[in-house]
Amino acid sequence: MTATALAKGESLAAQVKRLKYGLYTVPSQSESGVYWTVVQRGDGDLQCTCGAGIYGRPCAHLAAVIVRRQQEAKRRERKQAA
Ligand SMILES: [Zn+2]
Repeated sequence: MTATALAKGESLAAQVKRLKYGLYTVPSQSESGVYWTVVQRGDGDLQCTCGAGIYGRPCAHLAAVIVRRQQEAKRRERKQAA
């Protein structure tokens, strides 16, 4: 994951919706009302259904889910520490 992709993900992270464990939707940045699905595969890797993601290229949607997970992990750590 490149720094540029992660920076893009940062701005999208708040809009990530978790449908269930390992299944997320992320809104498209270029088309309103379009949502991409990010799934966690059996091997643990995340895959996005957008044009870049289906070829295994890092995209902003994947980055958004990764950033969101990091944020949630941090939140859980804080809760446990309190
Ligand atoms: Zn994508």
